[in-house]
Amino acid sequence: MSTQHEVPSYLTQKEIGPWGVYLEQIDRVTPYLGSLARWVETLKRPKRILVVDVPIERDDGSIAHFEGYRVQHNTSRGPGKGGVRFHQDVTLSEVMALSAWMTVKNAAVNVPYGGAKGGVRLDPKTLSTGELQRVTRRYTSEINIIIGPNKDIPAPDVNTNEQIMAWMMDTYSMNQGSTASGVVTGKPISLGGSLGRREATGRGVYVVGCEAAAKRGIDIKGARVAVQGFGNVGGIAARLFAEAGAKVVAVQDHISTVVADSGLDVVALQAHVAQHGSVAGFGGGDIVNDRSRFWEVDCDILIPAALEQQITEANANKIRAKIILEGANGPTTPAADDILHDKGVLVVPDVIANAGGVTVSYFEWVQDFSSFFWTEDEINQRLTRIMREAFGAVWTLAQEKNVSLRTAAFIVACTRVLQAREMRGLYP
Ligand code: GLU
Repeated sequence: MSTQHEVPSYLTQKEIGPWGVYLEQIDRVTPYLGSLARWVETLKRPKRILVVDVPIERDDGSIAHFEGYRVQHNTSRGPGKGGVRFHQDVTLSEVMALSAWMTVKNAAVNVPYGGAKGGVRLDPKTLSTGELQRVTRRYTSEINIIIGPNKDIPAPDVNTNEQIMAWMMDTYSMNQGSTASGVVTGKPISLGGSLGRREATGRGVYVVGCEAAAKRGIDIKGARVAVQGFGNVGGIAARLFAEAGAKVVAVQDHISTVVADSGLDVVALQAHVAQHGSVAGFGGGDIVNDRSRFWEVDCDILIPAALEQQITEANANKIRAKIILEGANGPTTPAADDILHDKGVLVVPDVIANAGGVTVSYFEWVQDFSSFFWTEDEINQRLTRIMREAFGAVWTLAQEKNVSLRTAAFIVACTRVLQAREMRGLYP
């Protein structure tokens, strides 16, 4: 069941995609917002959208143009914050939804940010390192007018990493005339990056996974885990679960699916992926050719850690997991949410499950401003505390109101955002 939503004039009904999913999630939370519902329309309209042309000279001398976006969904609680994605399927609808999920996520774990997101539609595999650097620098220059350490702070996301953050930081700083380390997070340690940032999203997924498992009476030791996406989120989460004694029984990436009933050797799989770029060809498990079979794997915990709209009406019924941990942003559609709820599957929503990344981004930003750096232990302890508290608060509210964890997380977050909105008032 999907409601028709008001489509902004710059998207067609066909293009509404992930933004439509987000609008439906907002509709579901609205009845729980009391008098703040008066302001809910704020959440249905991004504050600011910038679409930029990113031209570069290719290595062969030709000129290529890419389309880039930076969307600042909301800044009521602080500067915009959220990653930049390089992917061939990036669309405005997707970046809008991702920026809105950042608003909700940042409020759900109570870090003092609004929400923003960026993206460039390109396939990084088709660019040389030099071309990738030129795209990154030109994109940064184009969005320079709206980003800044106190305005909007980009970070890594799908296909972007520490090197790309270093180029972004350098480009902004050169344009500014002084080094501004706080303009992006997820930087290399040598440029003011934070210890623990690279692992933070995966670690957060693991921490809330342990909390959720405890609520469901599942022992992590021996628990069966399946992971879609084996990058910075899925790979780290899988490793931490395996270290805690869980069996990682299935891993799917953009190319292939590998399963092993007795559990995969996650460290060996990571080494294979580092060398070959995919789980394809890994000898320590069985390769499954039909990708859709991944969703039917017999497991306790399922971690979608790739892209949006993976769990849909088409496969939700086949899922055998007891818990879904959303490492990705927006992996489950509202219709699939309903099916899973009816089946008694516990869905720990993205805005809590993958909030570890932006939480340590916040630590990085604070460390940059104070020029005082913390130990990895301090970071991991603070991260664990924030994740546990956020999960606990959402769990309690979900019980109280008899709603899903997603709706509960949205109640907590949207209330925070709209309270700030109301207190600030309209100006001018
Ligand atoms: N891209 C990550 C996310 O979706 C991290 C964002 C950040 O650190 O600002 O949460």
